[in-house]
Amino acid sequence: MAYRIGRCATTQQRMELGQMTQETWGRVQQGLQKSVGKNNYSNWIEPLEFSGLNDGVATFLVPTNFMGNWVSQNFGDQIKQHLSSAGADVVRVEFSVPKSGASRKPAAKAAPASETPAASGDLGLVPGAPLDPRFTFDSFVVGKPNELAHAAARRVAEGGPVTFNPLFLYGGVGLGKTHLMHAIAWDLHRQSPELNVVYLSAEQFMYRFVQALRERKIMDFKELFRSVDVLMVDDVQFIAGKGSTQEEFFHTFNALVDQNKQIIISADRAPGEIENLEERIASRLSCGLVVDLHPTDYELRLGILQQKVEQYRKQYNDLELAPGVLEFLAHRISTNVRVLEGALTRLFAFASLVGREITLELTQDCLADILRASDRKITVEEIQRRVSEHYNIRLSEMIGPKRMRTIARPRQIAMYLAKQLTSRSLPEIGRRFGGRDHTTVMHGVRRIEELKSIDNQIAEDLELLRRSLEA
Ligand code: ADP
Ligand code: MG
Repeated sequence: MAYRIGRCATTQQRMELGQMTQETWGRVQQGLQKSVGKNNYSNWIEPLEFSGLNDGVATFLVPTNFMGNWVSQNFGDQIKQHLSSAGADVVRVEFSVPKSGASRKPAAKAAPASETPAASGDLGLVPGAPLDPRFTFDSFVVGKPNELAHAAARRVAEGGPVTFNPLFLYGGVGLGKTHLMHAIAWDLHRQSPELNVVYLSAEQFMYRFVQALRERKIMDFKELFRSVDVLMVDDVQFIAGKGSTQEEFFHTFNALVDQNKQIIISADRAPGEIENLEERIASRLSCGLVVDLHPTDYELRLGILQQKVEQYRKQYNDLELAPGVLEFLAHRISTNVRVLEGALTRLFAFASLVGREITLELTQDCLADILRASDRKITVEEIQRRVSEHYNIRLSEMIGPKRMRTIARPRQIAMYLAKQLTSRSLPEIGRRFGGRDHTTVMHGVRRIEELKSIDNQIAEDLELLRRSLEA
């Protein structure tokens, strides 16, 4: 359900209200506009939805609890007075948040900053987080797993008319989401320094919101966030389940989209998969372009390592790197680029300290813990499944007794891969292949080793399977 805070339901509800009362509220609103000022009126009074008058209690619907409290404290008495003067029998005014799905009016509108001098208060004019100077498009290595995200980020960084809003980037830890967001911000800064580009984490957004609440500067907060040209919020999954922050984020988001301002969001998973994220928010977040960064593959990891080595060469000029080291790391270290970078940094620091060439042996020693931790546990079952799919046979056939070549060969390939990619012993592997003897497994492994060097097709298949299993 992708609804904007709707006006249609509001109209319907109004029809149900007594004509008399609705008219009264209309007049009261005009009076209030004069007494509270235009700015306050559009921020706090206009969004109120009159829902009824019962036994002297006038009830209004408000988009958030926070807003209800605020209006009650700051304008409650005035509203009551105005209603009474207009002839309504009001003892008390109450504000409540509609149950989800009920109608709501748009959140407070952005007011021109000039009308509220307090806007440049403690929150600072540009409430963004600093950008990392290393995170540029130049230093971002593009590969299959991230090419879409990169292309989308490039497009947004060009500025110009907003084509998709928001751009929603998602993917696992250390795959380059923050890097891409910073890169967009740098580019925009360079091209259009006058643009108010704000980057911050969802956590910082929440912190600022809570701070504004505490310091009673929520108006400033709203205005600040509604005055940005490009808003980037990183790791938005953080605000899921955080009631009023989530709500405020939603209003900020809507206000900016309404003004056709570009928004870029990142999260560790797709909008619909973020637990405790309100559905209406998830669906609004999916309205633009949603792209994911896939786990890195071998080529991308190698590309990133090579780029890093180039940088390090400038730092450590007598750097000696034995052939195969980068390939080894690209194979063995998990998909998280941060871990990959950390490993390389440590390796270079160590090598320069002891003044030794970086060999495979040194690498294994120096990074033993990282290598162990990122050992992805490939299971025999997984191998069997992938190999069966690849050769289009059934899993039951792979494990079963059939001996014809079309089944036996894939079975041997699976045994070979199990020996190569897992730490299972031959008898253990045999047991997982329908209780076969360890000598059968050994025979299979040897057979594939032989074939690998004479049969190109088999060599290719093995490489493909290994990569897909290790990805
Ligand atoms: P995320 O925000 O997705 O967790 P980051 O953007 O913080 O990940 O990336 C983690 C580290 O990996 C950063 O130092 C970043 O520069 C680096 N990195 C990630 N992807 C790439 C890439 N494609 N090219 C170069 N560096 C990358
Ligand atoms: Mg990040």
